[in-house]
Amino acid sequence: MAHLAGSDRSQLMLLPETVDDYVGPDNPVRFIEAFVDQLDLQTAGFARVQAKATGRPGYDPADLLKLYIYGYLNRVRSSRRLEAEAHRNIEVIWLVRHLKPDHKTIADFRRDNRAAFNAVFREFVLLCRQLDLFGRELLAVDGTRIKAVNNKDRNFTRGFLTEFIRLADERLAKYLQRLDDGDAQEEHVGGTRGGRDKLKEKIAAIQGKRDRHKAMLVELEQTGQDQISLTDPDSRAMARMTKVGVGYNVQIAVDAKHKLIVEQEVCNQVLDMGLLAPTVEAAMVTLGVERIEAVADKGYFKIEDVEACEKAGVTAYLPKSVGGPAVREGFFPKTAFRFDPEANVFTCPAGQTLSPCRRGRSRDNVKIDYANRAACKGCALRPRCTRTYRHVSRLENEAVLDRMAARLAARPDILDRRRETVEHPFGTIKQWMGQGAFLMRRLENVRGEFSLTALAYNIRRAITLVGVPGLITAAGE
Ligand code: SF4
Repeated sequence: MAHLAGSDRSQLMLLPETVDDYVGPDNPVRFIEAFVDQLDLQTAGFARVQAKATGRPGYDPADLLKLYIYGYLNRVRSSRRLEAEAHRNIEVIWLVRHLKPDHKTIADFRRDNRAAFNAVFREFVLLCRQLDLFGRELLAVDGTRIKAVNNKDRNFTRGFLTEFIRLADERLAKYLQRLDDGDAQEEHVGGTRGGRDKLKEKIAAIQGKRDRHKAMLVELEQTGQDQISLTDPDSRAMARMTKVGVGYNVQIAVDAKHKLIVEQEVCNQVLDMGLLAPTVEAAMVTLGVERIEAVADKGYFKIEDVEACEKAGVTAYLPKSVGGPAVREGFFPKTAFRFDPEANVFTCPAGQTLSPCRRGRSRDNVKIDYANRAACKGCALRPRCTRTYRHVSRLENEAVLDRMAARLAARPDILDRRRETVEHPFGTIKQWMGQGAFLMRRLENVRGEFSLTALAYNIRRAITLVGVPGLITAAGE
């Protein structure tokens, strides 16, 4: 029996097929079309929404936006590849109605409208809210580092530059000494001119490098920054993320009900500390709630942030890392000391009372030390507690952390929920969507890029939950 042969390419059709025949009713491009067509692109901040009265007609931003949403949904992010898809991909041909913008037009559109993509992301979040896809009870906040267009070798920290200049000065002093010694020798017995010329070349090369590093150090001192990146000046070396090297810090707040992203932001702050309250507060506005629970990992632990959360109506859950000099030396951790807020004293593992003995400051907070020198002197537990006498510190506003610790102790499972909730979007974005690195340079551009990534993730997730026809209906309402 013969194989299936297909149809003859040169055969004319009696009833020709239309492009529409190739795109099924549940094809995501039909939703992209419906979603973008109902957006107010002018309000969202897109450029050139109104066509010019004269001159060569340009592309409608709606068509280029559709092209980008399609691309991010299908792991096609580069402008050159999007141009190629517009020529050969039947879904794209359907979506942009045979338009074939070149890669420069496509790239310029993304650069010129970078801020507007965030508005489109928010519009889709509002659509999901209309479909009741958010639980609006628990948000999991997490950050990941995504590579920037900046090689590690083109990033310099203040410490590196200072050390480089110190070593260069040492080498220069050594070579100059050798040069002087060579000159003296030449005067007496005749030295080799070639050797001296080579030494001079080495000195000039080191001096040139030293001057360039010095200029960067001066720039850092003037700007107050800690590091400088030469290819993408906004990117930062992510100290502990050796795989990422130089990149950006991407923050997301994910609703626990269906793991949809409610809020996303890209910054170049190396640590997550201090980012919980602003991320959750922005998410609350989008969700239209006045109170919400939020959980994050210990990297976010900062008393000012926990206080800000309480004031904003956020019930925060953050685990505290058990550390500090006493623990590192193998002594009792602070948790072994029980605080009595009524009496304002600590009770130590030996049952002794530690009273306030000193007030100081820890960053912006008042810190109080508690101790009982007399009790420590003859204490049998002293080898497990301290070398001399033990003092335990407490911030004046630490009650906010006590309340959070009590909440966490009552709901230890919430940390597992955090992991399950945030790992889904980040896993999907990095593995399935292949976004391990940004394509553009500068913070504002990568923000635009990530807005499209988060939008594509949410669309994909909502299609799984509601289906394309359901989303089309909701977009039309
Ligand atoms: S050494 Fe001092 S603080 Fe530590 S258990 Fe003994 S009495 Fe308490």
